[in-house]
Amino acid sequence: MLKLYNTLTREKEEFKPIEENIVKIYTCGPTVYNYAHIGNMRAYIFMDNLRKILRYNGYELLHVMNITDVGHLTSDADEGEDKMAKSAREQHKSVQEIAEKYTQAFFQDIDKLGIEKPEYVVKATDHIHEMEEYVKKIVENGYGYETSKGVYFDTSKLPSYGELSRIDLKNQKSGARIEVDPEKRNPLDFAIWIKAPEEHIMKWDSKWGLSYPGWHIECSAMSQKYLGEVFDIHTGGVDHIPIHHENEIAQSKGATGKNPAHIWMHVEFLLINGGKMSKSLHNVYTVEDLEKNGIEPLTYRYFTYSSHYRNKLNFTWDGIKSAQVALNRLRELTRKHKGVDCLVAKQKLEDYEQRFKTAINDDINMPVALSIVWEVAKEKEKSNDYYLLLKKFDEILSIQIDKEVVADEESYSEEILSILEERKVARENKDFKKSDELRDKLKELGYLVIDSKEGQKLEKV
Ligand code: AMP
Ligand code: ZN
Repeated sequence: MLKLYNTLTREKEEFKPIEENIVKIYTCGPTVYNYAHIGNMRAYIFMDNLRKILRYNGYELLHVMNITDVGHLTSDADEGEDKMAKSAREQHKSVQEIAEKYTQAFFQDIDKLGIEKPEYVVKATDHIHEMEEYVKKIVENGYGYETSKGVYFDTSKLPSYGELSRIDLKNQKSGARIEVDPEKRNPLDFAIWIKAPEEHIMKWDSKWGLSYPGWHIECSAMSQKYLGEVFDIHTGGVDHIPIHHENEIAQSKGATGKNPAHIWMHVEFLLINGGKMSKSLHNVYTVEDLEKNGIEPLTYRYFTYSSHYRNKLNFTWDGIKSAQVALNRLRELTRKHKGVDCLVAKQKLEDYEQRFKTAINDDINMPVALSIVWEVAKEKEKSNDYYLLLKKFDEILSIQIDKEVVADEESYSEEILSILEERKVARENKDFKKSDELRDKLKELGYLVIDSKEGQKLEKV
């Protein structure tokens, strides 16, 4: 039985898809105004684990992720400049060039992290018409009103507004800023359609003149287009709970009368050295930054398994370096099982698999799942049966669990390097006796030497 935590009910619920065999999911994707950072990537690793766990449970997937290339202002609410337009101005590029550049960078990053692309990855700017129609519906149903700045959602018409975050509306109201638009009827009302000032670059002709969509409306319009009015699971980061997802729910209720998703799932934040990631602290790291520091992207994926997705995760360079060592050790242990002709009792294998499945099905408990993976890898008796089981687990983990670990030459001691050099010369001179002696010497020092076309490679014994 698969259980997933639903932010809406604050409970772990038994998962039952709306349709028998297919699970419909919507994920809020990146705003492509800059490189995604490793905090964002935690959210997409979570999304990918969810996909793979659903598949492990026998479901087919219909999953949509949006690419936000318009409408996300520098604040998640209705203030500031459009992030895309700001980035284009700062980089002296067109908005399209910015969108293209960072969308491609995002795809490369998720690929390096073993994250699959959802079935549909769709751009906001390709759905302006659907968004306008959605706004019209909200207005027709009496939940939207026009001001000189745009069209707002009237939160006072929806008594359930705030149900996802369970916010204290009274407090919010006194704190919320009304000065954005004095024509707003209630402080919590939010823009669903924004009339474009003359200098605004991205604007489309509409019923309300040249305008652009509010950020939240894109997810409502696109999820409805591809998944229907109500689908199974909606995912995003915890920062989406109080504004973006609350507003998505309101919009759907305004347009269709329904909450669009049965289960709302949210990933907690990644912290850096115990604090927030921020440009001013120069600690906004990307996948490329990891690579520049000699960290394989998949190590970051492995690292995220040290904490449950609903808990904060603290990134430190020491932590990620230890994760790299641990992942390589896990790979070495896995490879020791490969091809070993030794049968393991079926019951034992089944028990391991059952425990793994129980962990992943318990609201995606990757830390527990990973501890079972280690138990299997560390089995004293080597067997290809264990290898196959670990490979099966890796369909979810996606850490290339049987990847060959090639130690970095520079990290070898002088002694090892000189033996390698001596052995290379011996082999060139076809002095195989000497070559074998040196092989034994390396073994005594803890290394197995493998001769390949590219030369000698070392593996830890
Ligand atoms: P954005 O591109 O800003 O819309 O964010 C993309 C995704 O990353 C969203 O689901 C955010 O909730 C999530 N996110 C942003 N910052 C972090 C963080 N520090 N840790 C985890 N997830 C984050
Ligand atoms: Zn969204």
